[in-house]
Amino acid sequence: MPSTQDLCPLCNSPLKEPEETKTGKKLQRCSKGEWDANARQAVGCTYVKWLNSPAETLKEMCPTCGAPLVLQTTRSGKKMKKCSTAGWDRENRVATGCPYVEWLGNTVEELNETCPLCDNKLVKVTTTSGKKMKKCSTAGWNAEFREPTGCTYIEWLNS
Ligand SMILES: [Zn+2]
Ligand SMILES: [Zn+2]
Ligand SMILES: [Zn+2]
Repeated sequence: MPSTQDLCPLCNSPLKEPEETKTGKKLQRCSKGEWDANARQAVGCTYVKWLNSPAETLKEMCPTCGAPLVLQTTRSGKKMKKCSTAGWDRENRVATGCPYVEWLGNTVEELNETCPLCDNKLVKVTTTSGKKMKKCSTAGWNAEFREPTGCTYIEWLNS
């Protein structure tokens, strides 16, 4: 695999060859960065690219530090965007890098279909757990009375 074209998003230097941690994780460090084992801290550029995490790098930038965001799915199926510089220091049991995390909620997409009950537009909703449904755009939730408002039409799309 050609790794030479990978550039550090923080300082634009090429990344080093992949290395493996004691715990079996693969990572690539920035060539301007070095791990000082005695001081237990990174020297120089702190960018680390984890190679065997299931994260997908996004084109969006972290609002906190400007590094690319990655999309990660937790074991329970929740999706979140987090900063690609974020990591976990197992030895010291502390989070490293940038703490930015954004949990993704339901996504709502407008459809060109009309509701069979009230003729308003339908929307397609994808929940964080991946379930899909069509529902009426007039549907809402009254937080005060804890009850649904508007049209009650729902069509689940997952079989
Ligand atoms: Zn760098
Ligand atoms: Zn960040
Ligand atoms: Zn409706």
